[in-house]
Amino acid sequence: MGRLETGIHKGRLTPAEYDANFSDLHPRLTKHEALVAADRCYFCYDAPCMTACPTSIDIPMFIRQISTGNPIGSAKTIFDQNILGGMCARVCPTEELCEQACVRNTAEERPVEIGRLQRYATDTAMAENKQFYTRAEYTGKKIAVIGAGPAGLACAHRLAVKGHDVTIFDAREKAGGLNEYGIATYKAVDDFAQKEVDYVLAIGSIEVRNGQALGRDFSLSDLSQQYDAVFLGLGLAGVNALRAEGEDLEGVADAVAYIAELRQAGNKADIAVGRRVVVLGGGMTAIDAAVQAKLLGAEEVTICYRRGKEHMNASEFEQDLAASKGVIIRHWLAPKRILEKDGKVAGIEVEYTELRDGKLVGTGDIGVIAADQIFKAIGQTFEASGLGALRMESGRIAIDGEGRTSIEGVWAGGDCVVGGDDLTVSAVAQGRDAAESINRALGSAIPAAAVA
Ligand SMILES: Cc1cc2nc3c(=O)[nH]c(=O)nc-3n(C[C@H](O)[C@H](O)[C@H](O)COP(=O)(O)OP(=O)(O)OC[C@H]3O[C@@H](n4cnc5c(N)ncnc54)[C@H](O)[C@@H]3O)c2cc1C
Ligand code: SF4
Repeated sequence: MGRLETGIHKGRLTPAEYDANFSDLHPRLTKHEALVAADRCYFCYDAPCMTACPTSIDIPMFIRQISTGNPIGSAKTIFDQNILGGMCARVCPTEELCEQACVRNTAEERPVEIGRLQRYATDTAMAENKQFYTRAEYTGKKIAVIGAGPAGLACAHRLAVKGHDVTIFDAREKAGGLNEYGIATYKAVDDFAQKEVDYVLAIGSIEVRNGQALGRDFSLSDLSQQYDAVFLGLGLAGVNALRAEGEDLEGVADAVAYIAELRQAGNKADIAVGRRVVVLGGGMTAIDAAVQAKLLGAEEVTICYRRGKEHMNASEFEQDLAASKGVIIRHWLAPKRILEKDGKVAGIEVEYTELRDGKLVGTGDIGVIAADQIFKAIGQTFEASGLGALRMESGRIAIDGEGRTSIEGVWAGGDCVVGGDDLTVSAVAQGRDAAESINRALGSAIPAAAVA
């Protein structure tokens, strides 16, 4: 098959090209590189990097431990706050969090490489299977966690540390949530997501039941009756519709589903990709779909975003990554209609947009971009049934400051709750903090619902 053959095809590249394209984005630092990077840290008192971390990892402390030749102790410092510190080291937008806040991030200097140092420490400990936590004496309490993503796993681990028995229910075949099914392939190579799940579950007393969907196999009230507390870490299972003519044509796909398929593919050559690909959206999912389409051998990949560069949810780093792979990002373009030839996608009609009095409007100026594959990356939505009278807000689950929902004995965290920033590290923080709240509540009686 020719690399540039028109249409959607599998196997556009050679095996060596696939291997090179999907290799580790930022390989682990060597010991020497880690020592040099750690040496750049000023070990600030009141470190701003630590405040910028949603899980509040003691960053100066873990970097100090690396620089004194103690990466295992360093990993413990990280895992104490974030048991998924290995994945977060790979996927966190550090350039917008800890590294942005680093005092060495100035016009003349670059920040300390906190993310890569975190990976060095956590990878070292995980490679040696160093387990730092044992379960406290069994409390006699059983907690159900729905969703085995970062929020659910972090919650389950902290509950197990406290001595509770945990059962995790997840609709999918594998645990890990978007760590397993969403994160870009080149950020989590070598099956790292499953290795991390195994590492987290090694504490014991956490049972994972896969293929168990809330709303299909059980309801929230079923679990509330059987367990002492319930944590919902459901993520966002739905996707927004494009509502444009031609959306159902062959060649139009949901970006999240495509990325999941790619993550699960044993052989990248099995994943078909167009020659000319258009991705609609401006977030991390749009970037990931576009970059991966390019890495699969698409000749031309264009992201169309209906607002300006400054409005994109994807970080500057992600945008630069896409540009470095040859992805073209075009702004102020809204999809109007998907064009068809012989029942398949042939292109997309777009309308230029602008802000008028703060409102996004079409200018009436229409253009056409040729494409044989179109990905929708226009946002995910909360979708779940079986939740009874759980209070929602802005389409997501309403919680209070401790993660308590409107139903007594039910907590929630991660992407499925209102007000989140849809990051792995924030989901971990919310899962962990909800576990602390559950533990406090189980120490006394389950408190009255905090959300009216
Ligand atoms: C394509 C993509 C790329 C991303 N890249 C990054 C990145 O690089 N960096 C970053 O920080 N963040 C990234 N994110 C965001 C990040 O993945 C999420 O914020 C994070 O996974 C949220 O964790 P969670 O546990 O709340 O939800 P999820 O990871 O979505 O996990 C939810 C779990 O609940 C299960 N579930 C859902 N409904 C039911 C049900 N009815 N019954 C039972 N189980 C159910 C699901 O199967 C899933 O396992 C990305 C997101 C996407 C979509
Ligand atoms: S802000 Fe930068 S220099 Fe200061 S402790 Fe954090 S990483 Fe080190």
